[in-house]
Amino acid sequence: MATKLATRMERLGTETAFEVLVRAKALEAQGKDVIHLEIGEPDFDTPPNIVSAGARALEEGWTHYGPAAGQPELRAAIADYIERSRGASYAPEQVVVTPGGKPIMFFLILALVEAGDEVIYPDPGFPIYRSMIDFTGATAVPIPLREEHEFRLDVDELAGLITPRTKLLILNSPANPTGGVLERADLEAIAKLAVEHDILVLADEIYSELLYEGEHVSIATMPGMAERTVILDGFSKTYAMTGWRLGYGLFPGDLAASVSKLMVNSVSCTAVALQQAGIEALTGPQDKVVEFREAFRRRRDLVVDGLNRIPGISCLSPKGAFYVFPNITGTGFKSKPFADMLLDEHGVAALSGTAFGDAGEGYLRLSYANSEANLTEALERIDAAVKATVA
Ligand code: PLP
Repeated sequence: MATKLATRMERLGTETAFEVLVRAKALEAQGKDVIHLEIGEPDFDTPPNIVSAGARALEEGWTHYGPAAGQPELRAAIADYIERSRGASYAPEQVVVTPGGKPIMFFLILALVEAGDEVIYPDPGFPIYRSMIDFTGATAVPIPLREEHEFRLDVDELAGLITPRTKLLILNSPANPTGGVLERADLEAIAKLAVEHDILVLADEIYSELLYEGEHVSIATMPGMAERTVILDGFSKTYAMTGWRLGYGLFPGDLAASVSKLMVNSVSCTAVALQQAGIEALTGPQDKVVEFREAFRRRRDLVVDGLNRIPGISCLSPKGAFYVFPNITGTGFKSKPFADMLLDEHGVAALSGTAFGDAGEGYLRLSYANSEANLTEALERIDAAVKATVA
């Protein structure tokens, strides 16, 4: 029997990284050697003090339902961390803890926008933004991020995209997939536009601790922005906790109540024992965060240097996150065929820039959250792949 799905399912997109991972695993099952540069997760294990706190919580009986918005101690620790790290003031009641940072996009967009609304989102950008906007029936308006502008949005261009229907602007800094970082002046100008046009901003700051120069600046600290900024952050990237599923949002006004309601209607609450581990992550020693960042910095330099030596490829040195977004137009290839060829013929799993929006044509995304030995081998394979096609 062919099941007729709701039409909204036709509008829902996906995250290509997971599809490429499945293809890469299938090749490995056939005995092929694949280097994984497709999936965006730290290759490190979660620091042992956090693992112990989670295990201890299970043994101590944190095995029951908890409040939909999260454990009060964790919500307080999060509000405290956001104040400490950015100088942005949110009360613990404004925090909602979710299974990963991703549900914050899902719940916020579901709670806020509908057909007739416009949402401006970064292109190239995390694919779930576009997917969720389309799902609600709202109009997705891409703001292109260009290499010549270091993959920061152009504020004049943004101003030109705003209409009376613009309800939400999504920012992501440091960014996936480009590693681009918005500067303080960019954020000040964007904040002025948001206040002037009464637009809510979703600031996806999940890579805030993976910044290689300067200090992370949150748009929530700009004049008039505390009451119109939702901060998305979480534990996945900073503490190497992707599989735990632990993230959070900080919401202005009464949005936290609406998002909690969506929590009640979907997952009830985030696993309570894991929330105890989250408290340890935020309040315990932070030396591993520094160690991870320094390892990523070395890998970034290795990968950027290696890519720039390959004929036809050029790569900016990103200021944050753990991705590079090399320009491959000089190879003569389009992005998707190039990524397919790298995986099928050379055992390097990478993502086509187009997996992140139309503006990603001409680029690849490589995650450098992998060992230096694997990265070196991957660079040799990419070099061989390009030379083989030119020869
Ligand atoms: N935001 C961005 C830009 C991301 O790249 C990711 C994960 O890849 C997330 C949010 C969500 O992370 P998680 O749901 O694992 O916390």
